Amino acid sequence: MIPLSTDDLPWFCDDGDRALAARLRAAAPALAAAEEAADEPARDRAAVAALAEAGLFALVAPADGQVRARSLCLTRELLGWVNARADSIFAVQGLGSYAVLAAGDAAQRARLPDLAAGRAVAAFALTEPEAGSDVAAISTRAVADGDGYRLTGEKMFISNLGLASVATVVATVDPALGRKGLTAFWLPLDGPGVTVVPQAPIAPHPLGRLILDGARATRIGEVGAGFGLAMRTLDTFRVSVAAAAVGMARRALDEAARHVRARVQFGKPLAEQPLVQAHLADMATQIDSARLMTWRAAAVKDAGARGTVEVSMAKLHATEAAQDVIDRAVQLLGGRGVVAGAMVEHLYRAIRPLRIYEGTSEIQRTIIGRAIATGGSP
Ligand SMILES: Cc1cc2nc3c(=O)[nH]c(=O)nc-3n(C[C@H](O)[C@H](O)[C@H](O)COP(=O)(O)OP(=O)(O)OC[C@H]3O[C@@H](n4cnc5c(N)ncnc54)[C@H](O)[C@@H]3O)c2cc1C
Repeated sequence: MIPLSTDDLPWFCDDGDRALAARLRAAAPALAAAEEAADEPARDRAAVAALAEAGLFALVAPADGQVRARSLCLTRELLGWVNARADSIFAVQGLGSYAVLAAGDAAQRARLPDLAAGRAVAAFALTEPEAGSDVAAISTRAVADGDGYRLTGEKMFISNLGLASVATVVATVDPALGRKGLTAFWLPLDGPGVTVVPQAPIAPHPLGRLILDGARATRIGEVGAGFGLAMRTLDTFRVSVAAAAVGMARRALDEAARHVRARVQFGKPLAEQPLVQAHLADMATQIDSARLMTWRAAAVKDAGARGTVEVSMAKLHATEAAQDVIDRAVQLLGGRGVVAGAMVEHLYRAIRPLRIYEGTSEIQRTIIGRAIATGGSP
């Protein structure tokens, strides 16, 4: 069942949330069809077109600058269920636009309507070969040049590369300053000094390396504000990773339940076997707890609190639970679950990066544990 029917919505939904849910459900067939395009680049482009057609990019690059956690979570739960590729493209459009929403100048903000309409796609380039979880180790160098900067260095694991025409890039104006030297830049990807090298993850996810050799960019915000802008970006979108995981896990449970009701072994449907029912019970319980934690974190954020611990708990629990739920779905489908092209096989690959990107599970545990250790509430 496609998620987000009227009786499947969080209790706190208002009329705007209900209208969004109806729009998402109406867009689901086109979003699913996008995955039937001939090859990976065509599927990427078809996903962008379906997201744009449904007007969804406006949620991550809104004209009023207010990104609502609830809207992100409803959208990513549906996208996780229907098309994991579209889910990642949607989320990264937000990651790539957010610094400009928060601190961009007039010229940079002039690109926002194109991003909101899906006429342009953005990327968000933080990670480097020697700076993964340790963002402060970023070494891509920014040197002032006239009214802009020249960037030199290498970024890797950058989503939306291949589709994106512009990227938010965090680089250092002076490595000796550590995180105080980190500054955000707006980089057109079609200029000289920019090379994109595709990477091929196991998940349906456009990804690449970004090699910069004196590439021209403009600064977003103040010198030294890059670390803070990057953290605000992640703070805004991290809760929605949990929602995407919930959507993928729900799809896996739907697929598994359908299969075990129909598949007969030992003279009766698998669904009548107590051990199979135990799997279904554990899967449903994990999904429900993850969904409730995601809603709580989204509600806390939309109420104006930072919600760091609630968000980290939701991201940690939902992504780990979804991995387990999807693994059990593969198990319940038996050999059919590991054949390339099966929905649960697709989900098995699609879920894996969610425990890594936007802060690994270990980093989420570090955030939660540190908060408790220093006297905060769990
Ligand atoms: C599909 C995908 C898409 C991505 N998209 C983007 C993107 O668009 N933009 C972008 O900038 N980045 C992106 N990333 C990069 C992602 O954010 C990093 O992979 C992630 O932050 C981890 O960095 P790393 O891979 O270098 O691993 P490392 O930081 O080298 O970590 C390796 C392992 O060590 C653990 N570890 C690290 N530090 C600690 C610690 N202090 N305590 C305990 N354990 C620790 C980690 O949890 C992990 O298990 C993407 C990654 C993937 C897989």
